[in-house]
Amino acid sequence: LVSRENHPERSTVRVGGVPIGPDTVTLIAGPCAVETPQQTLEAAEMAKAAGATLLRGGAFKPRTSPYAFQGLGEEGLRILADVREKTGLPIVTEVVDAHDVELVASYADMLQIGTRNTQNFALLQAVGKAGKPVMLKRGMSGTIEEWLMSAEYIAQRGNLDIVLCERGIRTFETATRNTLDVSAVPVAQRLSHLPVIIDPSHSGGRRDLVLPLTRAAIAVGADGVIIDVHPHPEQALCDGPQALVNGDLRELARVMRQFPPLL
Ligand code: PEP
Repeated sequence: LVSRENHPERSTVRVGGVPIGPDTVTLIAGPCAVETPQQTLEAAEMAKAAGATLLRGGAFKPRTSPYAFQGLGEEGLRILADVREKTGLPIVTEVVDAHDVELVASYADMLQIGTRNTQNFALLQAVGKAGKPVMLKRGMSGTIEEWLMSAEYIAQRGNLDIVLCERGIRTFETATRNTLDVSAVPVAQRLSHLPVIIDPSHSGGRRDLVLPLTRAAIAVGADGVIIDVHPHPEQALCDGPQALVNGDLRELARVMRQFPPLL
């Protein structure tokens, strides 16, 4: 269903009217985690000023440590819905448990499946039935074939509004959190008709790498990027070191305007 063999045209997925596909480079930005109404609104305004057309923000956070901030849950979803009301930005937010799909889908414009859940097949099947577009991250140790098979699980339940997101894979390198696999973009685009975007924030885990990796994403033909921003990263409850701050946003907007690159 997701293969390009029977569907040679590349697809465009619409999220609350915003296109993600071959004719544009969509900027999705916002806080890694929803922490407070004020922090989420400020981050959304920063995102919008940089040219973002979709707002990201986690209310359910899958953390490596059980002692780390796990997200605000439904309260976080309510904050996102309120910020959508104020800014007009449709919401992309993660769902981590099949039992929460209905709840998250009742607030979200796009459901995000994180890298730790790429092969949670019960969750994939549940989002396949939820009637909302899905952003499917690549498993941090998953092959492109496995990633596409996960997309197939969603598609098989009747949902073809799927965007693939390369977010870095685990390698021997320790300078970055994960290694961004830029070749995954053209490879996945050749094998599948689905749009492919890049997450330069979670792959590098470092603020100073976000803009260079965004340039790489655009140069390699990604259909979008998803980026963390935070008004006060030093106080962030999740992934502060990778969040862009106000001073970075003019440069981010400039990088995004360079599309189409070098053609
Ligand atoms: C996220 O985007 O909030 C996130 C946790 O990303 P990943 O699943 O890629 O680690």
